[in-house]
Amino acid sequence: MTPRRLLALAAAGLLLAGCTSFTTTVAAPGSSPPLGVVACPPVRARPAPDRPVVALDFRLADDLRTVTGTETVTFTPDLPTDELVFRLVPNGPDSAPAGTRLTVDALRGFDVRAGRYVAAAAAPPGGRYEVALDHALRSGTSTEVQLDFTLTLGSGAFDRLGTDGRVSWWASGAPLLAWEPGVGWARDPFVALLGETADSPAADTTVRVSAPAQLTVLMTGDQAPPTPARNGRRTWTSTEPAARDVSVAAGPFTAVERTTPDGVRVTTGVLPGSGVGAGVVAGWTTAAIADLEAIVGAFPYRTLTVALLPDYGGGIEYPSAILEASPERSVLVHEVAHMWFYGMVGNSQFRDPWLDEAFATYAEALVDPGSAARLRPALDAAGAVGAPMSGFPDNRTYVTVVYGKGAAALLAARDAAGSRAFDAAVRCYVDARAWQIATPADLAAALADLPRALDVLTRARALDAADLPR
Ligand SMILES: [Zn+2]
Repeated sequence: MTPRRLLALAAAGLLLAGCTSFTTTVAAPGSSPPLGVVACPPVRARPAPDRPVVALDFRLADDLRTVTGTETVTFTPDLPTDELVFRLVPNGPDSAPAGTRLTVDALRGFDVRAGRYVAAAAAPPGGRYEVALDHALRSGTSTEVQLDFTLTLGSGAFDRLGTDGRVSWWASGAPLLAWEPGVGWARDPFVALLGETADSPAADTTVRVSAPAQLTVLMTGDQAPPTPARNGRRTWTSTEPAARDVSVAAGPFTAVERTTPDGVRVTTGVLPGSGVGAGVVAGWTTAAIADLEAIVGAFPYRTLTVALLPDYGGGIEYPSAILEASPERSVLVHEVAHMWFYGMVGNSQFRDPWLDEAFATYAEALVDPGSAARLRPALDAAGAVGAPMSGFPDNRTYVTVVYGKGAAALLAARDAAGSRAFDAAVRCYVDARAWQIATPADLAAALADLPRALDVLTRARALDAADLPR
């Protein structure tokens, strides 16, 4: 996420004030390499074969404000459990005040006993929906659960869900499976900060959207052409083999398609009167992919879809999709960087928000040296880069420390270690932890042979002693 106006505020405040050893061990999908072992795989890790399978079926009503749907989840835990926990992001403090709300209307499943809401510091009916099973699932055994839901979209704002009566968008719009492989259910509370707090596994995902026929749907995944209009509606489908979450936008978009030299299909859509053409946004997107691939390796997805929304200031990343709410190239670079840092290399956005936000901001700085110069003074800001979302008193402190100081610390660590060695180590981290949930210790393990970089990140309190390789 890039909260653009907030970043400007934080920047104003700031002005005042290689992977040199290799092992041949490839991390098994879903498992962590032991601390202190630099697992630099010869090829990037593949998505876990037993990852969840998620099918989302959305229907956007003609009022463009009501989305009804069904979610089908096949879940195979890697630890024993007798429940399924879903995060209801639309009821969180970013969205609920604008009138957004998600309810679960029906619950089905052979093993299901009952479902209940849990407040989790969100608006009614609650921030989590917990499904009790009638028996414990052993590790490696599967269950299928189906939930019907109703999503009401609030007024358009800089948020992941909303409508302005012309275009509607919903991301994290369905109950989100909150499982962290190797750890268990993520039950983190919502916090009153402009940022994500989810922790979700990469799932084999299919999406189906029924929308009024005059609208174009732009969403996560490799999209098939829509069905012909019937009864005033068209149905759009997509597939994404490893998606932590899903974004959908439906509006009178004009879309263009481009293919990068590596075969990534980029689709960008703009609204009438947007002031910037879809081809211009496509050019920014393909350039960002090329620039970032040169630093962090191959783009993670087959496709990338960018929906340019009205200018609410900023951008929000989703797997293979971006809700771009600001016609700015630098914002787009940040969101494209999130395809590696969040989309592919997952993190607990509550526990370790810097693992995606500091890296995405750092990536912006590598592509735009002007932004690097502006960020560097942030290294002197007070506060621990590695704090959880509950550790920040307000948005300004959060953005200054996690985005600003976090990115400045990564730039300083790169300077200290040498850019070639640092970039190689980061690629080791990315390839070893692809499609999993990474931790600061995983990053520290990849930097084990770069003590100067570890020292910089420890002084910025991005890493602490427990994270360091032994
Ligand atoms: Zn971000």
